[in-house]
Amino acid sequence: MLHCQLYYVAWTFNTCHIVEISEMKPDKRRCASTKDREFGGTLGATCIPVFLPLTVLYLLSVCRTPGAALLQWPPPLPPASQLWDPVAAALVLGWLTLQIVLYLFPVGKVAEGMVLRDGTKLRYPINGFHALCISAILLALSVWLGMPLGYLFELLVPLATCAMGLSFLLSLYLYIRSFWAPKHALALGGDTGNPLYDFFMGRELNPRIGSFDLKYFCELRPGLIGWVVINLGMLMKEVELRDSPSLAMLLVNGFQLLYVADALWNEEAVLTTMDIVHDGFGFMLAFGDLTWVPFTYSLQANFLVVHPQPLGPVGAAAIVFMNGVGYYIFRQSNSQKNQFRRDPTHPSVAGLETIPTATGKRLLVSGWWGLVRHPNYLGDLLMATAWTLPCGTSHILPYFYVLYFTVLLIHREARDERQCRSKYGLAWETYCRRVPYRIFPYIY
Ligand code: NDP
Repeated sequence: MLHCQLYYVAWTFNTCHIVEISEMKPDKRRCASTKDREFGGTLGATCIPVFLPLTVLYLLSVCRTPGAALLQWPPPLPPASQLWDPVAAALVLGWLTLQIVLYLFPVGKVAEGMVLRDGTKLRYPINGFHALCISAILLALSVWLGMPLGYLFELLVPLATCAMGLSFLLSLYLYIRSFWAPKHALALGGDTGNPLYDFFMGRELNPRIGSFDLKYFCELRPGLIGWVVINLGMLMKEVELRDSPSLAMLLVNGFQLLYVADALWNEEAVLTTMDIVHDGFGFMLAFGDLTWVPFTYSLQANFLVVHPQPLGPVGAAAIVFMNGVGYYIFRQSNSQKNQFRRDPTHPSVAGLETIPTATGKRLLVSGWWGLVRHPNYLGDLLMATAWTLPCGTSHILPYFYVLYFTVLLIHREARDERQCRSKYGLAWETYCRRVPYRIFPYIY
């Protein structure tokens, strides 16, 4: 999913389009010119790694100001003295180590990924939900032993700084090591020969140390589970300040925990997503997974600590309903496509109408994928709205997630369409005629 996640970060500069790289002759597979590049090409790849860390610090700082106005000048960035704290560094490294140990823990099944260009398949441990449960038990134990989880609120800025440092170091390592990878192991869109662009997009598709898959590990574990821990820290801070958690805080925590638990429960489904199948592992995903998700997705809970919002039972019930509808659409559509891609003869999908493509794969044109071309995005956006509504309507800041996520998914949808059009040609055109709306029925 989150998946996070995730080229969550780079919506701003997309003006370019992808060409059919996969069908070029091998010697022409490198992108020939800037028009073949995504996210604004070299300019985007240079600006985004500067702009995004500043955005994270800006949002965290704005959240603490009394007015919490999204647009402020001069920007309330934290002073340099607040960026670093050795406790934060120890927490980030300790957390990463714990998640690595839990990843390596031999529990759960092992699943195969999609077929790679050399005809092989990689194997992945499916134990993310175990990692979530064990992390929760260890956290509960630590709180019971007196760990002040609410202190995460004070530590957010130095924690984010450490996560950023980690993201940059990891991206640098990934870029350097990719020069030892065989040609067929490189992502088609990240091997242009332009160092800035390739550093940003990621050259290697599935970088591994032994059997440890770096991209798959980062996608759903340290950042995603870290996000719910930060949320819980905000809840504990609220309890410290006001003796009990507010209804709004409980809803935000509950909804987002459900989202993360669902992603980990259905971990195998991430193996058919764009992030794993198509995108290389570079700064875009590393920063998204390790910094952007935990520190900007927790903005609502962070906001509620400083700006408590009243919420009555009727409003809460309506928001719960909205989240439930969004979750249902999101889960059903993702599972349907995942099941269909893994085993089209499975009884749950065998009766659905499909159209053939020249690649041998078929496209669903009924069921959820006959409603709109990205029903999973529709569900995700409904949930995003439900996560924000508990924060009231007095400030735009907590709506940052919905606004950003809408832009992200519209951009992601366009990106996926281009890839599918290149892959499936006429069959994709037929699908688009049969299912004319992209995300919102009768609107878009
Ligand atoms: P999708 O899971 O939507 O996968 C898109 C792929 O599905 C296409 O490339 C195509 O691949 C296949 N497909 C498309 N249409 C059909 C069809 N009609 N029949 C069969 N297969 C089809 O991609 P994402 O990775 O973008 O999204 C996965 C989930 O993650 C979504 O729910 C999304 O909302 C969520 N997400 C969340 C983020 C967050 O930050 N919270 C960020 C990004 C995504 P092929 O044909 O090759 O199988």
